[in-house]
Amino acid sequence: MADRPKPSPPCHPDTVVTHAGLSPRAHFGVVNPPVFHASTILFENAEALRHPERAVTTYGRFGTPGTYALGQAMLELEEAEAGAICRLAPSGHAAVTEVLLSYCGAGGHMLMADGVYGPTRATADMLLKRFGVETTYYDPAVGAGIADFIRPNTQLIFLEVPASRTFEMMDVPAIARVAREKGVVTAIDNTWATPYFFKPLRHGVDVSNCAGTKFIAGHSDVLIGTVTANKAAAPALKRTHLHLGQCVGPDDVYLTQRGLRTLGVRMARHMESGLEVARWLAERDDVARVMHPALSGDPGHALWARDFTGACGVFAFEMRGGTEAQADALLDTVRLFGLGYSFGGFESLIIPSDVSAERTACPPSAQGPQFRLHIGLEDPRDLIADLGRALDAFHGT
Ligand SMILES: *Cc1c(COP(=O)(O)O)cnc(C)c1O
Repeated sequence: MADRPKPSPPCHPDTVVTHAGLSPRAHFGVVNPPVFHASTILFENAEALRHPERAVTTYGRFGTPGTYALGQAMLELEEAEAGAICRLAPSGHAAVTEVLLSYCGAGGHMLMADGVYGPTRATADMLLKRFGVETTYYDPAVGAGIADFIRPNTQLIFLEVPASRTFEMMDVPAIARVAREKGVVTAIDNTWATPYFFKPLRHGVDVSNCAGTKFIAGHSDVLIGTVTANKAAAPALKRTHLHLGQCVGPDDVYLTQRGLRTLGVRMARHMESGLEVARWLAERDDVARVMHPALSGDPGHALWARDFTGACGVFAFEMRGGTEAQADALLDTVRLFGLGYSFGGFESLIIPSDVSAERTACPPSAQGPQFRLHIGLEDPRDLIADLGRALDAFHGT
């Protein structure tokens, strides 16, 4: 018995994450996709062996029904066009590397937003450089001005919105429009919003990658990355993915598709609680600024409101003066916020966050210590009380 066809036009993202990629009739009616631990796949006869293109699965590294289910779900959530493909990588950073190696090559040039995730920058500066690709960093505020940076050998424009750590917004459609005119591929790291709140391919971007480690898996127990390429960008991704030999273990794929089912309710709660904590911080005299594009006073708010349908609970704040010792007192006082990297899990996290030394195109200046918060699923009033105690400790009171 076949699965019933999907309704059209496409449903709300809440409905998509609930149903996407599932095909129970193919698996004895079982709701969730099976977990196949597989390397070798056996073929029925010589004829089948000579025509692997006719088989659903041919070798474990190329995927199993579980992998295909998650890839299909991501294509639906991204609202990707026919002919688009999704590939899974063993971490969010592996997904970034896969994007860079798919579209850049010797003698080429890449434009990268100055606010990208630190390891992304390191890969461009070291690995790509070693392979003869030059990188120029641009101010995230560049907009259509990106045209001035494009050279005859520019192969890729890489975006991340909002910027890691500093949360500046970018005019994604303006950049994508210029890139299309000039025939340059665009890619975006969409980890912060996830395709639940922002759909890059619908805004003219060619490739959308995401650290599924964060919100999609959502429980601090999986490393995974997704890369979705539109039809034109698909062949290069397909080839590079094969050449790099990257694949994800079946249990992590399973956990990620399981996390996906609750992405909508979790994101809504992260957003609501995140804004509550952000507004509380923004009202304090000792806080110089809160970097959160969904706050109405944020410099990127208009772009966020135009292009995104929501925000996660990851943002930063900067103190009006203070020392590293004071910052450490704050960090040592929080009880509900964990001190740890990553984000997107159910639990709140805090890290000190100063990236001024990393950036080259437009280094931000800071009046005092900065912290990045991930607001988890706890009651925000408890989180505010925890931060209140920590801020007292910051002031030595
Ligand atoms: C965390 C993160 C990554 C890397 O994800 P991993 O799964 O930790 O490798 C990439 N990009 C952004 C924006 C991230 O926040």
